Amino acid sequence: MEWSQFNLSTDFISGVQSPGDAQHSFHIVISDGEILSVDEAAPWRPLNQDELHWLGLTTVSTHFLGLVGNIPLYATEVDPETDEPEGYVFGKLWSFLGRVAEPTLNMLGRATQIVEWHSNHQFCGQCGQPTQPSDMDRSRKCAPCRQMFYPRLSPSIIVLVTRGDELLLARNANARGNFYSTLAGFVEPGESIEEAVHREVLEEVGIQIKNLKYFASQSWPFPNSLMLGFHAEYAGGEFVLQEAEIADAQWFHHTNLPSKPAMMSISGWLIHDFLQRVQQGAT
Ligand SMILES: [Zn+2]
Repeated sequence: MEWSQFNLSTDFISGVQSPGDAQHSFHIVISDGEILSVDEAAPWRPLNQDELHWLGLTTVSTHFLGLVGNIPLYATEVDPETDEPEGYVFGKLWSFLGRVAEPTLNMLGRATQIVEWHSNHQFCGQCGQPTQPSDMDRSRKCAPCRQMFYPRLSPSIIVLVTRGDELLLARNANARGNFYSTLAGFVEPGESIEEAVHREVLEEVGIQIKNLKYFASQSWPFPNSLMLGFHAEYAGGEFVLQEAEIADAQWFHHTNLPSKPAMMSISGWLIHDFLQRVQQGAT
C-alpha cells in the first residue's frame, strides 16, 4: 500500500503500543529536529520499511505514532550527525508550512514534538536518574521519585477583535516586514483560556473586549503550542501599546486590510471567517 492512497484525516488511528513485527511500516525520519523528504518536488511521504533498511541510517529511537490503514507509522529518530542520503533532503518543520496539506503538517509536528520530548526527558529533572518509557501511555517515568513526564503542550490564545466593520490588527515588534495580524499570547498558570484572552488584549493594546466566542484550535508545533482561536468585540478603551511586543495596532475597515490573510494559520482563518460574515451582512 502506498502512502498516497491514504487520507490522514480519516485513515489514521493514534496509538502508543507498537504492534511489533508488521510486514509493512511507514517511517517519518527525523535527524536533529529535521524531517527527511524523499523528493522535494513530489508530495511529501514517509519512508517505507525497505527504504529505511537500504539507507542504513543509525536509528537512535523509534516512536509508534499509530496506524495508517493497518500499517504502523513511526517517528524514527536517526543520528543527528547523519549526512543526507543521496536523493533525499532533510528540512526543518517550518519549510513544510504551506507546502503540505494540514493533516500532513500536523503529523510531522506530532512526530517532531514526540522525538524532542523523548530526547529531552532521558533523565529525571528532579533526581537525575534515567527515566523509563511507560507501557500504558505516552509518558516516561522516574521510578525512584515517581515523576511522570508527558509531551508538553503550551496552550496559547489568538483573538480577532472587531468593532462593527473594522478589524483590530497589530504589527509585532519582533516580526520582520510590514505584517499585521491578530493578537496572540500564551496562557499563564492558574488562568482560564477566557481570562488569558482578556488579559492579552488589555496588556498588548490596552482595550477591553466583550462577547468572546470560541472559533477553532490549531496545533502549532513551533515548538509545542496549541492555539485556541476566538472572535471578540471591542468593549471600550483607547490604544495603549505594549512597546516591547506591539509596534503598531490599528482598526482596519474590512475593505482595506493591510495584507491578505495567510490561510495556513488560524489567524488567517479567523480573519477570513469574519470577512465572509461581514460581506454577507451577518455581523
Ligand atoms: Zn527522579
